[in-house]
Amino acid sequence: MTDGRRLAYLEALGVDVYVRRGVAPAPATEAELDAPARAARPAGPLPPPVVAAAVPEATLDWEPLRAMVSACTRCPLHATRTQTVFGVGNPHAKWMFIGEAPGADEDRQGEPFVGRAGQLLTSMLKAMGFAREDVYIANVLKCRPPGNRDPKPEEAAQCRGYLERQIELVAPTLIVAVGRIAAQNLLATDTALARLRGKAHALGARGWPLVVTYHPAYLLRSPGEKRKAWQDLLFARQVFARLEAGEQVLP
Ligand code: SF4
Repeated sequence: MTDGRRLAYLEALGVDVYVRRGVAPAPATEAELDAPARAARPAGPLPPPVVAAAVPEATLDWEPLRAMVSACTRCPLHATRTQTVFGVGNPHAKWMFIGEAPGADEDRQGEPFVGRAGQLLTSMLKAMGFAREDVYIANVLKCRPPGNRDPKPEEAAQCRGYLERQIELVAPTLIVAVGRIAAQNLLATDTALARLRGKAHALGARGWPLVVTYHPAYLLRSPGEKRKAWQDLLFARQVFARLEAGEQVLP
């Protein structure tokens, strides 16, 4: 990606980047790299690991899993959905982004993060140097909650096996929980998002490395927070680099 395009995506994120004429944007400084790396530690006592239930989907490959989800009636959301929203992207991605649930646009199109918030997520990904196709994107819930209300715990519990199987199949190096609801649901905590940011967490019995950031829908409502989201993504990049180098970022 050219610097110009990347800067455009950063501007979409609301990140001010000052570049002297004819000078390429500087890479992150040592201090910038070290600060988040130092913070790559667990957020205090981690919640109890979520153990995958002995559910039929736990051994399925992609297509049978997709078919199972599209026919699912495990929770009442099946009655109000237009269609299920399974997930999209590279099935062997090193990065996995997980949001909370489909909205109206996603329910209509059958793909996660395609509305205005989805466009901002795409810009966030591009600012990191990714196309949507490079990563895998999924939600905690595969069906839209009516009126875009928050997922109910019992709905998330019913849907959990599908997401866990998706994570197993993708086997990402790093998961990014997108938004408070996804982060709290995945980590089984009610800790505020602000306190979950800037730390590496372990997800589930397998201890998948996970970091959190704001939901792009929140960023659209609160554009002043975009800079923090960019900080989260820089932090995620540092955690990812450390994981790829074989460093321990989790207890
Ligand atoms: S939200 Fe999940 S558990 Fe509920 S009907 Fe849809 S696919 Fe099934």
